[in-house]
Amino acid sequence: MSSPYQEIWQMALGEIEINISQANFITWFKNTALTEVIDGTAIIAVPNTFTKEWLEKKYNKLLLGTLRNINNSIKNIELRVSPTSSTPSPAPKYPTIDYQTAKEELSSPQQPNFPELHIDKETNLNPRYTFSSFVKGSSNELAMAASLAVCDQPGMVYNPLFIYGGVGLGKTHLIQSIGNEIRQRFTNKKVLYISADKFSNDLINAIRNNTATDLKENYKNTDILIIDDIQFISGREKSQEEFFHLFNFLYEKNKQIIISSDRPPKILPLIEDRLKSRFSGGMIADISMPDFETRTAILKVKVQEKNLAIPDDIIYFIASNIKNNVRELEGALNLIISSYKVQNKFPDITQAAKILSSIINPTKKITSYKQIINSVSSFYNISGDALLNKNRKKENIKPRQIVMYLMREDLKISYPSIGEKLGGRDHTTVMYACNKIDDELKSNKELEKELELIREIVYKSV
Ligand code: ADP
Ligand code: MG
Repeated sequence: MSSPYQEIWQMALGEIEINISQANFITWFKNTALTEVIDGTAIIAVPNTFTKEWLEKKYNKLLLGTLRNINNSIKNIELRVSPTSSTPSPAPKYPTIDYQTAKEELSSPQQPNFPELHIDKETNLNPRYTFSSFVKGSSNELAMAASLAVCDQPGMVYNPLFIYGGVGLGKTHLIQSIGNEIRQRFTNKKVLYISADKFSNDLINAIRNNTATDLKENYKNTDILIIDDIQFISGREKSQEEFFHLFNFLYEKNKQIIISSDRPPKILPLIEDRLKSRFSGGMIADISMPDFETRTAILKVKVQEKNLAIPDDIIYFIASNIKNNVRELEGALNLIISSYKVQNKFPDITQAAKILSSIINPTKKITSYKQIINSVSSFYNISGDALLNKNRKKENIKPRQIVMYLMREDLKISYPSIGEKLGGRDHTTVMYACNKIDDELKSNKELEKELELIREIVYKSV
């Protein structure tokens, strides 16, 4: 029997593992456990002080970000040294290897062997992600069709295939499915999946260790290169330069390139234009929020995977209350399953509402217009000051108008008060801005998408 914390931790470990090197993963995460979550603080047990300090110094952001993605009621993390965390882990998928063994394995020339983690060493693909476990709906129809077309003729139809959409909507699942499918159909093709963040970090390390040539050769040898979350090379010039050369090299040889991102190529901040134009040269497909039918179908697939007969009314309850993120849907399902395991029966709807209250009714009200300013400034990668001051730089005008529009639409603040809060502007300027965005939204699909992505940041960060 596993607790909800163990399930959350297993999901988190799976996510972390694909983002860092295998050696680091084994050394730092093998004997850890999520023991509880108190008032939004996740308590993580670690085997010794050294690990605690290292995790705090190096992996704090990754840990918090990953846990928040799985359960957004988690706002902080606290690491505690606990001797019990080096006893066998209760989570069956992650048997414990004690710290000393991990260190020895790390220093031994052979790669340590952890078949239970299921990540393919050569491709970095997780076999769990397949087309058969991916539910098709109107929110992902185009992305899925393009992905299947790529599997039929890798490198020949849509190159690159660029898939974008918000957090937890299935980008990683879909692009890894392409990798797994091609591996099955074309056994001689070399597939490589890597997150852009890891691509960048590996490159920096390789340059430091004088092994950059080997690393680049390895990438050049791939037939299918899958890069996840390309937005993470924003502002990293060396990585962009290397990726640009790699892209051209592979592209000219008709090798398939698949890229995912949290937004369309055009509006990726701090990414060179030459790269953006390469990204836009093939097929761009988005994944958006799934509708009710798709959410229900996804839940049914997950239930089947878990081999449990969860009553339909609970499935409909989850599908109608959790709308924004497939990962949250799964999180809700896991909470229900955990409750079943403790109580030996499924909760009724009232009990389910209680169990899921932290996911369904998170205190997600915007309390401050500053939240909007921060989110818009991070989305467009300009400073908050640039939004507030009166300069007329072209690149600041639209973001500033969007801030005004959101303050009006979402917070219902009066025009004069918006003007006052944005560096003492006249209310007519604010009215003009709001009308302009409103007008433009009627015909500009791209702006509509931008606003959707910005709102996602605003509401996620609260
Ligand atoms: P993203 O990479 O866009 O943040 P993920 O691919 O990690 O999202 O998806 C989050 C979770 O939701 C994963 O467990 C994935 O299997 C599941 N998921 C997302 N979309 C679907 C879908 N259409 N069908 C089945 N599972 C899905
Ligand atoms: Mg992803």
